[in-house]
Amino acid sequence: MRAFCLSLILGFALVLPLAAADPPEWRAGTAHVDITPSGPIWLGGYAARDHPSEGVLHPIGAKALVFEDRDGTRVAIITMDLIGIGRGLSDDVCQRIFQRTGIPRERIVLNVSHTHSGPVVAGVTPLVYDLTPEQQAAVDDYAKALADKLVTLAETAIKDLRPARLAFGEGKATFGANRRATRLKVPPDSPKAPVDHGVPVLAVRDETDSLQAVLFGYACHSTTLSVYEVNGDYPGFALTALETAHPGATALFMAGCGADVNPDPRREVALAKQYGQALATAVDEVLGGSMRPVHGPLSVGFERIDLKLVDAPTQQQIEQLLQDKNKYQQRLARHLLDELAAGRTLPTSYPCPVQVIRFGNDLVMAALAGEPCVDYALRLRRELADRPIWIAGYCNDIFAYIPSERVLQEGGYEGGEAMVYFGLHGPFQPGLEQQIIDAVKRLAK
Ligand SMILES: [Zn+2]
Repeated sequence: MRAFCLSLILGFALVLPLAAADPPEWRAGTAHVDITPSGPIWLGGYAARDHPSEGVLHPIGAKALVFEDRDGTRVAIITMDLIGIGRGLSDDVCQRIFQRTGIPRERIVLNVSHTHSGPVVAGVTPLVYDLTPEQQAAVDDYAKALADKLVTLAETAIKDLRPARLAFGEGKATFGANRRATRLKVPPDSPKAPVDHGVPVLAVRDETDSLQAVLFGYACHSTTLSVYEVNGDYPGFALTALETAHPGATALFMAGCGADVNPDPRREVALAKQYGQALATAVDEVLGGSMRPVHGPLSVGFERIDLKLVDAPTQQQIEQLLQDKNKYQQRLARHLLDELAAGRTLPTSYPCPVQVIRFGNDLVMAALAGEPCVDYALRLRRELADRPIWIAGYCNDIFAYIPSERVLQEGGYEGGEAMVYFGLHGPFQPGLEQQIIDAVKRLAK
């Protein structure tokens, strides 16, 4: 026993100086802010909703995770239990974070979980709702308060920076199903109904090896629930499960390329909890296994690429559209006529942000904008297979569905029909998939 203790002490004596000579190469900081609406507010996501929210199932939040490499380069990842964030709000928040912290736009990732049980966020899918002035005021006030909170959140996370070690791994959760399978009348295992069941996990551990933060993702719509109580859907339940299992750690969820993927089955609170628990279990299995260390340095690329829209309708075509039976087409017509009346020309393209964060040679994180279909994740995994890769969607500007070339050709909701809700005439022109893939590869170099 004495010999055992002695060797233990000697072991520590040998290990400690080595550890001190090899300080962690990262610093990481986290912060959390409650963004639960203070009163009734219209909820985003479903056009069929007919009244504002009624209470809260669980609070929703925004979290920040800031990394700093050995050279002092910082990247901030901000995740939100929200349906979306538009270009205006996103640019405003990033500009203010830059002024207050010096972290420039290209080093800030804003990701939403796309919960369909969170408030309408001003600027996102503007043509879905027909709100009264009072309801619109509540939405506008919420966005204003949200922006202030996000800026403070980033500042708070920077104050929390402390030595850290990063590690990456990937698990699996199987509740996401391609929602176009039934619409296209193909079996769930058809090549026309792909899914990405991967659960990327980035663990952040402090000097004592305690879990400081865990960032994880999944490619599936947050549409289990369509209740009127505010909640974060399955990601909200996953976050709670993980933070309960790891007291003191901050859990952050990043939505992936799940534009054409839904949880299956849906519509019960018990199912949202079950999927959240399944995701948390997948994350825990990764945390408990052998994760790959992630080294720096950080390098970041950010571009806005122009995705071309089909030709804009003529004034005469828009006036005809005013008579359309579909009220959303009527709203689009009114919106386009207002644009023309204001002296603006109708857009011929949309500036789509593409962002890539590289953690040395150990991890590439592609942060895609809009609602990207799962084909993007599957193709990037294939074509950048030489290194660990994480493909997030729903980042920085949720301005439209982003169909792959296949989905664009097949048409349907994600292929172009949904563009009306975003206030865009559409669909996109062919070629967008290659443009986005090329941009990711260019930025990942
Ligand atoms: Zn969606």
